[in-house]
This record gives sequence, C-alpha cells and structure tokens, in this order.
Amino acid sequence: MRDAEFYPEGHLVAVLTCEPLDRTLDYKAPEGGVAMGAFVEVPLGPRKVLGCVWGEGLGGFDLSKARSISTVLDLAPMREEMRQFLEKVAAYTLTPMPAMLRLATRAPGLMNPPGMRKVYRRGEGRPPRETDARSKVLETLDEYGGLSFTLKELADTAGVTASVVKGMLPSGAVIEEDTPRDLPFRRLDANAPGNELTEAQEAAATALREDVAAERYATTLLKGVTGSGKTEVYLEAVAQCLKQGRQALVLLPEIALTSAFLTRFEERFGARPAEWHSGVTMTERRRVWKMVGEGGAQVVIGARSALYLPFQNLGLIVVDEEHDGSYKQEDGVHYNARDMAVLRASLCSATVVLASATPSLETWANVEAGKYKRLDLESRYGPAVMPDMHALDMRGEKLPSTRFISDTLVGAVKKRMERGEQSLLFLNRRGFAPVTICRACGHQIACDHCDARMVEHRFLKRLMCHQCGETKPMPEACPSCGVEGRLAPVGPGVERLAEEVAERFPEAKCAVLSSDLFASARALKEQIQRIAEGDTDIIVGTQLVAKGHNFPNLTLVGVIDADLGLQGSDLRAAERTFQLMRQVAGRAGRSEKKGVALLQTYQPEHPVIRAILSGDEEGFWRAEAAERKMAGVPPYGRMAGIILSGPDLAVVTDVANHLARIAGPLQRINAQLFGPAPAPIARVRGRHRIRFLVKAEKSAPIQAALAEWVGQVKLPNNVRLQIDIDPQSFW
Ligand SMILES: [Zn+2]
Ligand SMILES: [Zn+2]
Repeated sequence: MRDAEFYPEGHLVAVLTCEPLDRTLDYKAPEGGVAMGAFVEVPLGPRKVLGCVWGEGLGGFDLSKARSISTVLDLAPMREEMRQFLEKVAAYTLTPMPAMLRLATRAPGLMNPPGMRKVYRRGEGRPPRETDARSKVLETLDEYGGLSFTLKELADTAGVTASVVKGMLPSGAVIEEDTPRDLPFRRLDANAPGNELTEAQEAAATALREDVAAERYATTLLKGVTGSGKTEVYLEAVAQCLKQGRQALVLLPEIALTSAFLTRFEERFGARPAEWHSGVTMTERRRVWKMVGEGGAQVVIGARSALYLPFQNLGLIVVDEEHDGSYKQEDGVHYNARDMAVLRASLCSATVVLASATPSLETWANVEAGKYKRLDLESRYGPAVMPDMHALDMRGEKLPSTRFISDTLVGAVKKRMERGEQSLLFLNRRGFAPVTICRACGHQIACDHCDARMVEHRFLKRLMCHQCGETKPMPEACPSCGVEGRLAPVGPGVERLAEEVAERFPEAKCAVLSSDLFASARALKEQIQRIAEGDTDIIVGTQLVAKGHNFPNLTLVGVIDADLGLQGSDLRAAERTFQLMRQVAGRAGRSEKKGVALLQTYQPEHPVIRAILSGDEEGFWRAEAAERKMAGVPPYGRMAGIILSGPDLAVVTDVANHLARIAGPLQRINAQLFGPAPAPIARVRGRHRIRFLVKAEKSAPIQAALAEWVGQVKLPNNVRLQIDIDPQSFW
C-alpha cells in the first residue's frame, strides 16, 4: 500500500536505506509525523543511517520493539514519480533498491544541518574616517540595493582589499551576517533573445517548443551533422521549458566540453546553470542536490548521474551526443543514461531530445518503429560542408614497420602547411606503443594483475595497464630472458605518432591531444584554445578531438588506422567505427575553407569503410539493422552479459559450470545461453573472469528469468556475479 501521503506519530512506516539489505526496515513515525518520501535518519544497530520513507510498515513482529525515526531531515521529500523511477530502473537493471537509493542521494552531508557562511551588506550610517576605498564599498552596496555579498565578491566589485571591508565593521556601516550556504541559483532569463536561427533550425526549434509546451511525454531524435547548430536548437527547447516554469536537464558526455558549453549557455540565458559532474566541489554538489529538489535550480548541466537528482518539476531532458559510449555506466549500477532518460521523462510528462550527428542504431530503430520523432538539420550552420573523404590504400604504400604516416598523407600535410592551414592526424590509441616485445625471446610485457599487455607511456616514462591502471618503469632487461637492450615498441600510440611527426615535419608546430596528457580540464581547455587560435600546424589526437571542438583553420584530417575499430567481436564495432570516423572527418573544414579527410586502411573495400566514404548514412543504418535483425541481437533482440569473477579460477569455474547446468529458467523463455567461457580479458586486478552471454527475443521477460536463474545459487565468498543488461562492451 503506497497511497498515504502522511503518517501520524507512532504509525509504523517502511524505510528504505542505502545499507546492503534485501528489504525495507520498519520504524515508528516520530513526533509530528512523517511524510511519504521524506528523507530521514534512522537508528541501525549502534549507527544512524540515511533513509527514505517508502510506505506503510510491513509489521509482522513485536511492535513494542519498533524503534522510532530519529530525525526528519530538512530536505524536500522524494516525489512519487522519483520512487517509481528508481523502482523501474532497479527492475530493469536487476539492481537492489539500496544501491538505487545510493545513486539518488549522491551528495555529501545530506544529514548535516545546512552549512553557514558569512555575507556582507549595508548597515546604518557612515564610517568615522571615510577614505576613498571605504566610499567605494558604500557606493557598491548602495548600488546593489541591499543585496548580500561574500567578502570576496564585495571586495572585487568595489575594487578594494578584503581588509578594507573588515575595517568598516566596527562602525556598523557594513554588517557581517551568517547565512545558509545552500543558496538558490541565479534565475535564468527565458525571454532573452536567442541567436539568429537558420530556416532549418527555426523549423526544428518550433517543433520542439510545441512538444515542451504540451507538457506530454515525447522523444525526438535531433539529427544534424557536426556544426549544423543542434545546440542552438535545443537551447530553444530549454527556453520554452523555463517559460512553462519547469526544470530542464542537459546531459553531456564529456566534462572537458562543459566549460565551452557553460559560456554559451550563459550568453543565451544571462546566468549559469547548475552543474553536476565529477569536477564539481562537494559543497556545490550538496547545493545542487538541495536546490534541484526545492526548485532553486532551473537547469542542470551534467553527466549521466544527474538523471538521479530529485527534480521537482522536470519538463525536458536533452541527451547530447546520445550515441556516446560514456552514457553507459559499467560499474556499480549498470545502466544506460540515454535509455533511462526516456524512462524518467515518460514518468513525469517531459520531452526528451536525443541530439547526435551519428545516432546509435537503437535510436535509429526507435525512429523507424515510430516510437521517436525525428528532426533533421541537413545544412551546416554557416558556409562549411562535410569534407571530401578518400581512402588511402596502405597495401600500396610500402611503409617500414616503424613508420605510420604514408607518403601520400605526408604530402597532403605539407600542402596544408604551405597554405598556413592546420592538419589533424587521428589515432585512437593513447600512449607511445600498445605492445613492448623482447627482440631476443619474443616475450611481450604484460600486467602482473591482468591478462593484458602493458602500454608504454613515454611521456610518463612508464608502462601502464589500461585495464587496472597499474604502472611500472620500463625495465632495462627482458623480465623473461634477462637479455638487456632488446625491448622494442610495436605499433603506434599517439605519442609515437607525435615523434614521427617531429621527424618528418621538423619545422612544424605540433600539439598532442590525449586525455592522459592533461592534469586538469583547464589545462586541456587552454591547449584547445591555443590550437583554435592557430598556434599549431599539426594536431595529433585521440578520440578526445572527435567531439565538439571547433578549429576553424583545420582543413585536413588524416586517420592513421581506419581499421582499428573494425577488429574484435563487439556487435557494435561497425557502428562505432562509422560514428567515430564521421565525427573525426567532420572536424575538417568547419569554416569557409573546404576540408579533406584521408583514411589510411588495409581494407578499402570493407563495407563499413565504403559506407563511411560514400556518406550514405541511411544505407549504412539499413544494412546494419538488417544484419542485427538476422542475428537477433539488440536492438532487435535482448542481451545480457553475466560475469563471474574471483581470485581462485577453480572456484569460479565450479560456480559457472553449476550455473550452466541449472539454466531451466532461461530455457523456459527460449533464451540462448552462451558460455561459460573465459572473458576476452580473462583476468583483471588479479581476479579471474568467466562470462556468459544470454540472448533472447525482444519480448521475452529476460530480467525475471535471469533473477530466477542466478537466485538458485549461493555464491562462495570472494566470487562476484555481475549482470549487465544491454551490454555495450564485451570484455
Ligand atoms: Zn626476452
Ligand atoms: Zn592490469
């Protein structure tokens, strides 16, 4: 029973906590009663823990033993739609509810009283000794008509030092006060004029505004090539949402992108939105969480976990770059933020905008099936067009094994340098070399804890495991045969490519853009700014450069290894390669100058390479969809990955074999079970990994069957079982 809104004192209520228990706990409502969904502090053994009132108590025990809720926290109660959302995500992803509540309360200090801070405002009279500096402070305070400042704000605005302000306190002309730290965000101006829109943009914006104004659930794919102005269009939807008095959430895949985005947002709405991602301070996280719940934050720009913020009146969710792999969370709760955004919107009558130049096949299929609407922005914003794309057949280039840039590509780069234009050499591999081999015995240096080879990072002067992050110095002698001086790098990473660039273009200014080379988002932003201003001839970059950054003087993109993503058994390999190559190529020629993209490949007749070159996107999606339909895989079938892991291979193998023998619940829904088999990376951080893959028809109740299947075994200590519904990666 979930219908009561309020429980009087002494009433038995169920409380969901973040503790790893398989049920809610019963407590008595405290003095003054408690509301459904209220956040509370409850005693649990000797501790006090955070909880949320989840409905009528279950009872069934001696009620005189029931303990009372200790404190009802000064937080907006969780709304019914949020409780439903968490329960549905839990059911879909097979996640226990306590883990869901943890996701929904990921702000520090929710149990603490609000923090205080000192603010300054105008008092009575004037200071006895009125210096120029003191007059400036008074003028500033008078000008802002009674508003409070922090010390730094006031000193900066008045152009004086903080000690000047402090020195005015004894006179009473300036007053110091303590106020709660969690202040609302500045109001956004929904009526501020937006950028001028092209005809195509205006048409798309109008359609989205209508959806938002209707306050009904709807999802639209906003498709447009890089630079077609998707952001301007969805910001119009945000403006409409503000006019409706509702909140908006914009999800972005990369933190590095948000600073440019925030500036743009501020120009459009006159103030900054709330931010929610790993780069936000703890104090700010708590403020955002509370203000979202109280309506003091109108728009949140965030990473995928912003989806679990306690919005009071959510009217719009934008998922920018909806195809991006980073929307899939792959530790803790496994969920895809894009799909969960659609679920959340459907529960609160909100509009969803999925923006992409290269949509995921899932979204494309939902459009084809009539579930999502589609808006196309065909013409690019401004005069630029997609670049000319050509394959460079590497079979004819006769490169030595230590070189990776073909003579044809070298010639093309030189031509750009003569014209004062920029070139980008793209290689989606961090570090110097992916493999280090001993030329004496053939040994390849591997991680001690994982079944993975170590990647040389020459910049850091270390070998690094990209699975577990472990690093070690490059050894002098081979760890296997002991011979010195015969270890050699095999294959290229961006650092090695940069070395080749320095050799072949000694006069060129080269910049390397790879996520591991920047200590902070700010350092990366500064580098990007320098490149955009033209202070670079050749950019060497990983997929970091594929997204969002605008380099107006860039007219050539050279893809060093277009075949890289096509290897492997991943069902999305073709789709990902297609998306990435299109995005990277889209970096060239974003202004008046027409761009060229050259793809180095050993298989120019591969259907994916041909589709990339021809630019026949619809053809590519149709062919890819037909193939997945034939194979009965997502989005035309259901899939789940199950990984068993533990330090002892024999124990893990026993559990896996046992599970394989008791797969009746899967057979009953006609699901296919593949495995057990060693996972492609069979050992990570010292844990052996064995995996199953379950495939079922789209309509099959796969979650219930999986829960029943794995519920039959009690896992030995140290063995973990992780279920991943709709897996994105297969390692
Ligand atoms: Zn050796
Ligand atoms: Zn490792």
